[in-house]
Amino acid sequence: MERSPGPTESGLPQMVEAALAAPGRLRDWPSPLKAAWEAERSPRVRRELAFQFKLGSAVTVGTVLIDLLAVPQMALTALILRIVTIIPLNILGLVLLRRDRIQPAKAIAALTLAIFGASAIWLSTYGSSDVIARIGMATMLLLVLSLHVLPFTVAEKLRYALLFSLATWAAGLVPNALPPKLLLQHMVLTLLAGGGAMVLAQRFWQFEARDFLRSLQDRVVRKELEQRNGLLRELSESDPLTGLANRRNFERVFEEVRAAADDGVTALMMIDLDHFKDFNDRHGHQAGDRCLVEVARVLERCLVRHGGHVARFGGEEFIAVFRESDACDGAMLAERLREAVSALAIPTGPGHWSRITASIGVARSSRGQGLSELIARADEALYRAKLRGRDRVELAYSGVEELG
Ligand code: GH3
Ligand code: MG
Ligand code: MG
Repeated sequence: MERSPGPTESGLPQMVEAALAAPGRLRDWPSPLKAAWEAERSPRVRRELAFQFKLGSAVTVGTVLIDLLAVPQMALTALILRIVTIIPLNILGLVLLRRDRIQPAKAIAALTLAIFGASAIWLSTYGSSDVIARIGMATMLLLVLSLHVLPFTVAEKLRYALLFSLATWAAGLVPNALPPKLLLQHMVLTLLAGGGAMVLAQRFWQFEARDFLRSLQDRVVRKELEQRNGLLRELSESDPLTGLANRRNFERVFEEVRAAADDGVTALMMIDLDHFKDFNDRHGHQAGDRCLVEVARVLERCLVRHGGHVARFGGEEFIAVFRESDACDGAMLAERLREAVSALAIPTGPGHWSRITASIGVARSSRGQGLSELIARADEALYRAKLRGRDRVELAYSGVEELG
């Protein structure tokens, strides 16, 4: 499974920073970094190995032709030897890859190549010194190329280079030893070619590791930015005290509700706490804040239940919008809100009857009236509610008339 690390993983940016300065060895990387590297690399490793197994089998069969030309007396033995070793091992490698066993598949890939190289050297011992020299060179080329293309780590490449070299040296010794000069030549060439390829492999690892770390760094930074942007958006759209939407965000929500209402009726409510200044004066600003939070919670609960939305309009005023349904219209919902605030029973004075209450003005519209127009009408109704004694709901006149 591909896994992309999140910036929440502790200290990942610092780990990337440190590894970028000196990539070192993969095995020494901290485990989150190693896991990220493996998650990104493993699909490619799987693909590359599968390709190598298939190519290896094709080349194994194809070399019969070279064997026939170079050492015809041993061509059949060589074919049988390779067919019973390399081809089954390649098939086993493909099966292991399908089962997601990458490490054993890598070992099989290294083994098949070492067997192939050793069998080529062993075959050359039956040929002329010309054949020995040419096959020796071809084997070196195979070592260098495979060290370049095998999707191994540097440590794995080093182990593979040793295995390949030892296998070909042994094949040059028994049962048919190469002439000492040619054997020495083969050994020196292996060391030079293998050593050179390993130096290049180390350099490539550094480039590859740095590329990976930079792209990881970009991803981490991008994720952090996205998170910060999300947080900023949330902060800029919500009221810090109550956590409700603020006035600006309400405008967007209102448009959405109105657009979804089609021909339905949208009800807008202005909700204002009664005598809140007195409450503040008597109980202090902090108690006032707590009261606002409690009222906000109850308004939100009630409105959400009816698919509505509420925002803090400013001070001790709230604004709400909802789409009327057969079950509930603006006046009914406003009445429920008024009752819910009163039911909080937040005491305002010494008498048990004095509690926080709200006056609500409701404006209804089925004509897609603009927000400011609806607010003006709801405000007018709210003003009337205050005049008529507070703790009550009033409907805007014109809205009621328009709607019939
Ligand atoms: P009315 O019934 O006519 O609405 O009277 P009122 O006292 O509620 O209205 P007024 O506009 O005179 O006073 C509103 C008060 O709301 C004044 C202010 O102290 C208080 N207030 C506004 N914002 C906050 C706030 O964020 N926290 C607290 N604690 N009080 C606030
Ligand atoms: Mg008030
Ligand atoms: Mg007010």
